[in-house]
Amino acid sequence: MLEDPGGGAARREGDSFKAELWSSCRGWRKMKLHCEVELKENIEQFFTKFMDEGKATVRLKEPPVDICLSKANSSSLKSFLSAVRLAHRGCNIEVPLSTFTPVKTSEFEKFKTKMVITSKKDYPLSKNFPYSLEHLQTSYCGLVRVDMRMLCLKNLRKLDLSHNHIKKLPATIGDLIHLQELNLSDNHLESFSVALCQSTLQRSLRSLDLSKNKIKALPVQFCQLRELTDLKLDDNELIRFPFKMGQLTNLRFLSAARNKLPFLPSEFQNLSLEYLDLFGNTFEQPKALPVIMLQTPLTLLESSARAMLYNRIPYGSHIIPFHLCQDLDTAKTCVCGRFCLSCFIQGTTTMNLHSVAHTVVLVDNMGGTEAPIISYFCSLACYVNSCDMLK
Ligand SMILES: [Zn+2]
Repeated sequence: MLEDPGGGAARREGDSFKAELWSSCRGWRKMKLHCEVELKENIEQFFTKFMDEGKATVRLKEPPVDICLSKANSSSLKSFLSAVRLAHRGCNIEVPLSTFTPVKTSEFEKFKTKMVITSKKDYPLSKNFPYSLEHLQTSYCGLVRVDMRMLCLKNLRKLDLSHNHIKKLPATIGDLIHLQELNLSDNHLESFSVALCQSTLQRSLRSLDLSKNKIKALPVQFCQLRELTDLKLDDNELIRFPFKMGQLTNLRFLSAARNKLPFLPSEFQNLSLEYLDLFGNTFEQPKALPVIMLQTPLTLLESSARAMLYNRIPYGSHIIPFHLCQDLDTAKTCVCGRFCLSCFIQGTTTMNLHSVAHTVVLVDNMGGTEAPIISYFCSLACYVNSCDMLK
C-alpha cells in the first residue's frame, strides 16, 4: 500500500478503487481518524482552491460526506488528488502513486490531539508529549507536581490530572491560553493561587474540578474566573466561599458537598444555577441577634476606604501599603451597594436554595433545602430597612 502523510493513499482492489484518507482537520479527525472509501464514480466534487496551502476537500457521493485534507505537503497533495481523480474515472493509478512514501508511526504521533494515560507504567519519561495535543489526561500516575512539559502544550483545551498527589499548582498553568477544562480532583492541593485566578484562565476556563483535595478557602480573586460554568469543590475542607461569589454569573453547576461551610455569603443570592449540591456541610443556625461593629464617627481609615471603593478609585500596592490593598479587596458589600471595611452590622438569615438553582440536592438527611446566609450592613439605617423588608 502506498501512503502520503498529508492526505491519504489509494489502491486498487479487484475491479474497484479505494482510498484511505486521513486529515488534520480537527472536526473530521474527532469523528474518524482513518477511513476507507470507494472511489470509482463516487466523487461528486473536488475543492482545490487552497491546494497550494496544503488544503483540499473531496466530496463523496456515498457516504455523503466531505473529506477535508489539511496540513499536507502541497505537491504530495496534488499527486494524491490526481490519483484519486484517475481512480474516480476507473483508470489505472499505479504510476502516479509510486512517488508516495509510507507514513511512519512517529510522524503520525506528532498530529495526535488526544492522549489518555491512566497508569504510571505508560507515563512518557524520555519522550515529549505531542505538541498538537488538545486533550491530555494523566491519572493514577503518582505525579507530585505538574510536569513542566505539559505547560508547553499551547493547544491544550482539556487537562485532566485527577488521581495524583499534586500539592501545588505552578502559576504557569495560566499560560495555557486555550485551556477550558481543568480536572484536579483527588490530589493534595491546599490552595488555588491568586496568580492563577488572575491569569489568562479568566478568559478561557469553563470547567474546574477541585474535588477531593484539602482546600480550606479560595482567594477572593477566584471570582474573576468569570467564564466558569462548572465548578466542583466536593470533599474539601472549605470553611467559606469567596464572598464575591455572585460575580460568577456564568456558573451553572456548583457542587461543594461535604465541606465545612458554616454560612453562605450574601452575594450567593445573585447566582443563577441549574444544579447545586451543598450536602453535608456544617451549616450553623442563623443567630437571632446581629453582631454590631459600628463606630460613630467612622474612623478615618473606614471613611477613606468606603470613599475609595464607592468612587471606584483604582489602588495597588505601588500606591498604598499591601495590607490596605488586602483590606480593600475583602471589603464587605452592604445591601445598599455601598462598602464597609471593619465598621458594620453582621446579620444572618436563611435562604431557600431553590431561589438560586433549578435542581437542589438536599443539604442534610432531614430533607432541608435551606442554608444560612451572612449579610453585612454599612449602617443602622440599612439594617433596620432590611429587617422591615423581611417582615
Ligand atoms: Zn448600606
